[in-house]
Amino acid sequence: MTTTPHATQSLMDITTRPDAVFVRGEGSWLSDHRGHRHLDFVQGWAVNTLGHCPPEIARALAAQSARLITPSPAYYNEPSLQLAGLLTRHSCFDRVFFCNSGGEANEGAIKLARKWGRVHKSGAYKIITFENGFHGRTLATMSASGKPGWGTMFAPQVPGFAKAQLNDIDSVAALIDDDTVAVMLEPVQGEGGVVPASPDFMRALHALVRQHGLLLVFDEIQTGMGRCGPLFAYQHYGVEPDIMTLGKGIGGGVPLAALLAKEAVSCFEHGEQGGTFNGNPLMTAVGVAVMQALLAPGFLEHVRAAGEHLSRRLTTLAAEFGMKGERGLGLLRALMLAGDDGPRIVEAARTLQPVGLLINAPRPDLLRFMPALNVSLAEIDQMIDLLRQALKAIGAQPQPKAA
Ligand SMILES: *Cc1c(COP(=O)(O)O)cnc(C)c1O
Repeated sequence: MTTTPHATQSLMDITTRPDAVFVRGEGSWLSDHRGHRHLDFVQGWAVNTLGHCPPEIARALAAQSARLITPSPAYYNEPSLQLAGLLTRHSCFDRVFFCNSGGEANEGAIKLARKWGRVHKSGAYKIITFENGFHGRTLATMSASGKPGWGTMFAPQVPGFAKAQLNDIDSVAALIDDDTVAVMLEPVQGEGGVVPASPDFMRALHALVRQHGLLLVFDEIQTGMGRCGPLFAYQHYGVEPDIMTLGKGIGGGVPLAALLAKEAVSCFEHGEQGGTFNGNPLMTAVGVAVMQALLAPGFLEHVRAAGEHLSRRLTTLAAEFGMKGERGLGLLRALMLAGDDGPRIVEAARTLQPVGLLINAPRPDLLRFMPALNVSLAEIDQMIDLLRQALKAIGAQPQPKAA
């Protein structure tokens, strides 16, 4: 049963969706078919770097679609060369391969690491990944992910991914053997509940992989492109990976992802990697517009200031309602609840009148916030007000102030 004006039964039923059809977005605001406006702190799942329908992206799409949409990945095109140049100039990497989704970028990273192991490390192929990590929904990236049950859900899946514990260097060291080629992780586990790697762990991990001649692979699909404050989260840790993947925010809302590697690791031979839509000018022109926005003077400073503001406001709210606190990096943050009310709060927030709030609960005891990177401090304050209303709507009680 549905009260939306559209038939929904023709879509594969792969998740629970609210009874609303979203029709229009602008900046931090998203409206449904009933005209109900929502302050959006999901933003396409940390995808809309510049908010909904930013003029830079509309212009880039219109201009590029009138010039050249796709010549074939077998030919060079200008926007992909321009974007690859921007990414290599502003990172520690030398080579870029474009793809269409994060999962595809991580598949490429796994293939590249295995190829490197074949050529340089006597056929080593095992990649150490982490409990509660998330790397995508292809067969190999599900095996690489550390969600319980994900490695066997569509068995037989891809072998060769041993799981360590984030922030426990001994658990990584214990898994290394002669067949190990790489360690792959998210600098901040996003789907796992916004759990940052500690700086000490990252330094120890870097030393460990160097000692054993392993590759370090960062999945920055959620943490990259300014989300955590610096352009890439590895810069926050001061540790250079050998391979990095980008997705989500790099396209600002359109399907675009990238696999980046240092020169010495870029060992694909012709025919080993490719894809029909990979690096097409329509999407990479958008990537150029996103990169230029991030590199504009003051933009990343704003992300850091907005992240600190959000952190302070969440900390105060947590104290007000007796919650456990907040954590995160930059504008990827989570509020740790006192109980498993996450899904109820998400629903109460969405249905608030006259305006709703869109947030997400990656785990029942946690709310995640991933606003547009150009979100204003006033919008953050408004989000906190709406969240307080939603908390009261489900019966959460403000705690009496400590004397
Ligand atoms: C979203 C995500 C992916 C998967 O990206 P898709 O574009 O959905 O394939 C992989 N890794 C991380 C860290 C992500 O957040």
